[in-house]
Amino acid sequence: MSKSPQQVDLQAPRDIRHLAPVKVTLLGAAGEVTGSCYLVETFSARILIDCGMFQGSRKIERLNHIPRLLAVQDIDAVVLTHAHLDHSGRLPLLVKSGYRGPIFATDGTIDIAKLILEDAAKIQCQDAEHETRIRKRAGLSKAEPLFTPRDVERVCAQMRSIQYDSWHDVADGITVKLVEAGHILGSSSVLLRVTDKDLSQTIVFSGDLGAWGSPIVRDPACIDTADTVFIESTYGDRDHRPLDETVAEFEELITTAVERKGKILIPTFAVGRTQQILYHLAAMFREHKVKRFPIYLDSPMAIAATQLYTKHQELMDEEAVSLHSSGQLKSDLTSVIPCPTADQSRALNTVTGPCIILAGAGMCNAGRILHHLRHNLSKPETVVMIVGYQTRGSFGRFLVDGATSAKIFGETVPVRAKICTLGGFSAHAGQTDLLRWLSPMAKSNPRVIITHGEEHQRHQLAYKIRELYDINAEMPKMFETLSL
Ligand SMILES: [Zn+2]
Repeated sequence: MSKSPQQVDLQAPRDIRHLAPVKVTLLGAAGEVTGSCYLVETFSARILIDCGMFQGSRKIERLNHIPRLLAVQDIDAVVLTHAHLDHSGRLPLLVKSGYRGPIFATDGTIDIAKLILEDAAKIQCQDAEHETRIRKRAGLSKAEPLFTPRDVERVCAQMRSIQYDSWHDVADGITVKLVEAGHILGSSSVLLRVTDKDLSQTIVFSGDLGAWGSPIVRDPACIDTADTVFIESTYGDRDHRPLDETVAEFEELITTAVERKGKILIPTFAVGRTQQILYHLAAMFREHKVKRFPIYLDSPMAIAATQLYTKHQELMDEEAVSLHSSGQLKSDLTSVIPCPTADQSRALNTVTGPCIILAGAGMCNAGRILHHLRHNLSKPETVVMIVGYQTRGSFGRFLVDGATSAKIFGETVPVRAKICTLGGFSAHAGQTDLLRWLSPMAKSNPRVIITHGEEHQRHQLAYKIRELYDINAEMPKMFETLSL
């Protein structure tokens, strides 16, 4: 029979005399995966860990504001685990509401967050303009973007870089240490030490964790001990397909498509996935598995993100560092052609295969990939390679689900291209790696709180944690406050 959290407290009483009093409120990513934001309050300070955007349905996106309970003028600091929008996307709203304090993050996160937030602001403004045109016809007032490039500039000006693996004072009585999370370049888990007189406690926030053995990024760092652990559970219920099997399938698909001289369209997630795809292609050329052919990088954001990866070689794993510093990767990838302008993108309509076009958006909902799909979906030699998650309702999902024709920019196009999905590329740890990350800390019998996952994923991870470590993990609701 399973034990309730209360029973566990009775069986293994925690010595609260050694713990400084702390309250943590979940302002997002509780029972779902977006909107990450924790408010940490002590007697003398209030800080936020992440300030992410809610993404998905219109209903969930309505939560994209700064909650009233958050008195912005009383926030002393923000600590950002990594740059993804679901962790950073409400920062512009925070500064818009008057926050003028520091936003601490690693160098890599600061650079990538700037790129991601600038892009998001541009999309917000475009969407607002579009909405305004519709509203105008109905005699309604102008639509306002959630935030603008100006708000993002403010956020960037408030960013403060901190090094991995050393303690930094961020507010009165609060020090933090960022350690590698292995998720994207610059990503970190946060160790937060709260000291109040002679009492102290360590709270760990996993951030988004990557998988062990992922290419380019380093493996997640192991943390030895904690009083409380907040752990993500995006894939708390399952493991991914092994990476080597996915890479083998990727190579086979590429080889076949090249033989058929088709265009290979890869909808791109600009940060992380693009660089990983280029990395695997480089290996194929180096090992002569396929003859070199043109790879068009048709996304200004992916081009910029790839440059940032090259800039931050100090954050890469050993293999990637060696390939970069020896110049090997550069010589493997001489056939990569960046296409920053719209004219260069349009010119790709007339090029012949074999070639790869990497273009945004990752779920085919917008962006240059739609033009390439319109031109090439009707050709049987085309391959559309889906390398990232396609949410329900997205155009990418519609193709994956076997659409026979598609309407793009008002034109109906028959789908004769081969649509293939490679499910094993993921920037997130699967269940086994989440448990592996928790394992050293479990020995110190911490309070474990599962967040950043849907209910099923959270429950499955909780079940495993109880089975392996005899710890009853908690699954708080959104806006719940926990006393630690
Ligand atoms: Zn992330």
